[in-house]
Amino acid sequence: MRYGVLALQGAVSEHVIYLKKAMEKMGISADVPEIRDLKELDGLDGIILPGGESTTLSLLLEKEGMLGPLRNVPKIFGTCAGAILLAKEIVPVVDGQKCLGLIEMKVSRNAYGRQLESFEAPLDTTLGKIEGVFIRAPGIEEVGAAVEVLAEHNGKIVAVVQGKYLATTFHPELSGSTVFHEHFLKL
Ligand code: GLN
Repeated sequence: MRYGVLALQGAVSEHVIYLKKAMEKMGISADVPEIRDLKELDGLDGIILPGGESTTLSLLLEKEGMLGPLRNVPKIFGTCAGAILLAKEIVPVVDGQKCLGLIEMKVSRNAYGRQLESFEAPLDTTLGKIEGVFIRAPGIEEVGAAVEVLAEHNGKIVAVVQGKYLATTFHPELSGSTVFHEHFLKL
């Protein structure tokens, strides 16, 4: 099996570590390559789209010709900027920013304000308790009927799943818990 982490930009290395830890716990042996170009997408069972800057990620994905082919990866886990990439709709609209449109959700960028408004909060999710690390996090404003909400915080949805697509507006790879990475592997 091959589960990759998109490594064009953003918080990559912690995801690789957490995925490996989750695999070890679950007795799965798989490669965890860092994915930087189109040919590395081939044959992936799943990919994590990390946090970073969603506008930059979208431009780099387009430049590498990866935006379309990414849709063929069977399972995708998007965190923070990665969650924005998975959304069907992004507000406010930024010129040239594309998304994959794989989760029926409307996402607002920087929903909590600027960098200074980044925060940590304990979250009670349907997968268990986890420390939520929110860094210039987006907010999930609306979800479609096919979307299952896994966690909310202060009236905002912060984790969802739709079929084989998982998204969190926080950084589970900084939480100390691999529960979301394990869930991703189980999808
Ligand atoms: N604010 C960033 C964006 O809009 C996301 C921040 C993050 O991924 N930590 O892309």
